[in-house]
Amino acid sequence: MSDCIFCQIAAGEIPARMIYQDESVVAFHDLHPAAPTHILIVPRHHAGDVLELAADPRGPEVMEAVLKAVPQVAAAAGVDRTGFRLINNCGEDGGQTIRHIHFHLIGGKRFGERLL
Ligand code: 5GP
Ligand code: ZN
Repeated sequence: MSDCIFCQIAAGEIPARMIYQDESVVAFHDLHPAAPTHILIVPRHHAGDVLELAADPRGPEVMEAVLKAVPQVAAAAGVDRTGFRLINNCGEDGGQTIRHIHFHLIGGKRFGERLL
């Protein structure tokens, strides 16, 4: 998707502070961090959101790649021992602003027991 900002970041056409890359996934620092550590884990494959990915024949392999990237990204960000939150926003009520599926890995501080 040539007009998708996360496809462009994954292709290296727009700069980002990359922390991890493999053949299926890129991970980079969020432009507006919500916590001391705020990384976006982004599959290279374009799907608008988690519902689109679930309906995509490549969905399971994409989620497997994300799952395998999580420990590597957490270690690279230095939060694998201290813990973190992994968040996916879907659609308007989910607060999604970028229509390319991604997962927020946030940490570097102690979150409360309540989600919100
Ligand atoms: P969403 O609200 O869709 O779940 O999350 C989108 C995230 O992408 C936001 O946290 C926002 O700060 C981040 N973001 C938006 N544009 C850019 C960009 O060009 N570069 C980077 N690194 N992050 C971005
Ligand atoms: Zn995209």
